[in-house]
Amino acid sequence: MQTKSKLLLLVTLLLVGLAIVIAITVSVKFRDYSIQSAVEKAKMTASIVKDGLTAHMVNGIMDKREYFLHQIAYNDEIKSLWVVRSDKVIKQFGPARPNEEVRDPMDREVLKSGRTLQKITETTEGVTLRVTIPYKATVIGTPNCLSCHHVQKNDILGAVSMEFDISGLRNSAVFTISNIVLINVVFIIIMLLLLNYYVSPYMKLFATLQDGIKKAYYGDFSHEFKTTVTGDGKDFVNQINPLFRKIEATFGDIKHDLSTFIPQNSVASDDPLYEAKIIISELSDIYKFKKTIELDATKDTIYQRSMDVLQNKFDIHNFSLYEVNTITSERKLIFSSKQAQSICNPEVDAKPELCRAYRTNNAVISTEFINLCQNCQAHDFEYICLPMIINSDYSLILSITTKEQEEFNRIHNLISSIENYFEAAKPVIESKILMEKLRDTSLKDAMTGLYNRRFLDEFIDTVMNQAQRAKETYSVLMLDVDFFKMVNDTYGHDVGDKVIKEIGSLVRNSIRSSDMGIRYGGEEFVVMLHNATDEGALKIANDIHSSFSQLVFDVGNGEQMQKTMSIGVAKFPQDGNTIWKCIKYADTALYVAKTTGRNKIVTYTASMSENESLR
Ligand code: GH3
Ligand code: MG
Ligand code: MG
Repeated sequence: MQTKSKLLLLVTLLLVGLAIVIAITVSVKFRDYSIQSAVEKAKMTASIVKDGLTAHMVNGIMDKREYFLHQIAYNDEIKSLWVVRSDKVIKQFGPARPNEEVRDPMDREVLKSGRTLQKITETTEGVTLRVTIPYKATVIGTPNCLSCHHVQKNDILGAVSMEFDISGLRNSAVFTISNIVLINVVFIIIMLLLLNYYVSPYMKLFATLQDGIKKAYYGDFSHEFKTTVTGDGKDFVNQINPLFRKIEATFGDIKHDLSTFIPQNSVASDDPLYEAKIIISELSDIYKFKKTIELDATKDTIYQRSMDVLQNKFDIHNFSLYEVNTITSERKLIFSSKQAQSICNPEVDAKPELCRAYRTNNAVISTEFINLCQNCQAHDFEYICLPMIINSDYSLILSITTKEQEEFNRIHNLISSIENYFEAAKPVIESKILMEKLRDTSLKDAMTGLYNRRFLDEFIDTVMNQAQRAKETYSVLMLDVDFFKMVNDTYGHDVGDKVIKEIGSLVRNSIRSSDMGIRYGGEEFVVMLHNATDEGALKIANDIHSSFSQLVFDVGNGEQMQKTMSIGVAKFPQDGNTIWKCIKYADTALYVAKTTGRNKIVTYTASMSENESLR
């Protein structure tokens, strides 16, 4: 039942109850009052009868009393009136007339007890009040009863009995009560109408609040609260509407922002609150996973950790993980559970393109088409194969199998989440692959121990892509010894080599592990400073520059030699959108240093590229 109906029903019940109590109270009081007034009237009449009879007696016309009594009784209300004599009076004056004899036990009782008695008789025809009042012998005043009657003081002389018709009183009581009931009914109706008029807007406000809050519980904050009430209710609506708009907009932003981290539809829910909670929880898990694997030493450890996630978080136990080397075109099994072991045709290892997931770079889900992967040997269970390209050299294939349809559906729903994990692991695996390659000696310059030009050619694009993804910077320093030819020419190649080796150790000692020192050619070096500020990059350039100029080379014959160098500086990505461009710009700045006196550090400016001769 609606709150409004309940309230109206309650008020109605209260008012009806009140009306009933008033009606009962009034009718009882009215009855008491009516009887009381009839009794008073009877007493008065009895007194008149007594005084009249006494006057008759004193005047000696007692035999004429019939007329007197008839006159008194000749009244609409008095149905009958009679007097009765007590035994003592009968004894003194003889028996009463026939119509004055004791008529009933009530007469007898009054004569005996001397008490006034009354009785109400209600029939369908009317209501009768019967009152019988005794006459007692008195001695005070005139006449003195004892002067005529042979009785004692207070002896009963007789009684007057009267029957009154008080039906009129009952009728007027019924009329009064009917009026009260009618007035109450009218009052109740007016009250209900007023209540309805004043309460309805509040009830509607209450209903709209309920609606809005119900929707909000499920994440829908679009509800527009409306009300016709004024005052506090209106103020409340004026405050809650902007609040809901704000929450709605904020959740929209949060949802939008979150969807940039996790692909849309990975959490299917109509409730943005629930969705946000799930996404944030998933992001938090992925963040922890990523932070952990970033500190892992090798890509094999990351593979192992990814498998732990599959087993412990996703509760997937039947799967194989393969690594495909694109360069050598080989597929290597990293892990396989028993059931998943025989899923692929053995030829796939040597020819990875036979793997449908690898070739198409799309998830292969066995239920989508009969015999979907032609090189799959799984006939009595379903499979889901997910490809993940790490970089141009490596890809991963995760092959999950199951015999249970229910389990298959569960895993199917997890695909997006699994992909999110692999997506998070991808740059970390990529950097581990890079690190492994960087340890490769073929990329190092034997004379200085720095990276060689081959490294630059092969890996600088990968380094740059990573930097772009992570919004990192590299300051590029291009170093070149001034008039180096002269060293070779004057002191010989060995001395020249010595100078080159010294530059190598100077560069190595001046940079951090995340920086890179590269022997670019001859006595030219490229130093790439990771995430350095402009001041920081210039400080390192200055350190290398001044340290080198202070080096004293023993050139034999007791002679010594000192050299200077020039340095050009450019910054990725501020100066150029590729590292190659920045290397070129650092070279341009170096050229400016060379042509403007050498032994200096010049920072690249865009105006240098506008100069024809420097391009
Ligand atoms: P500039 O101030 O303009 O740089 O004059 P420069 O004489 O230094 O000219 P440049 O930088 O072009 O000289 C490069 C010389 O470095 C040419 C070559 O003989 C010498 N060189 C290149 N590789 C080696 C090496 O491995 N050992 C030695 N000793 N010399 C090398
Ligand atoms: Mg030089
Ligand atoms: Mg040179």
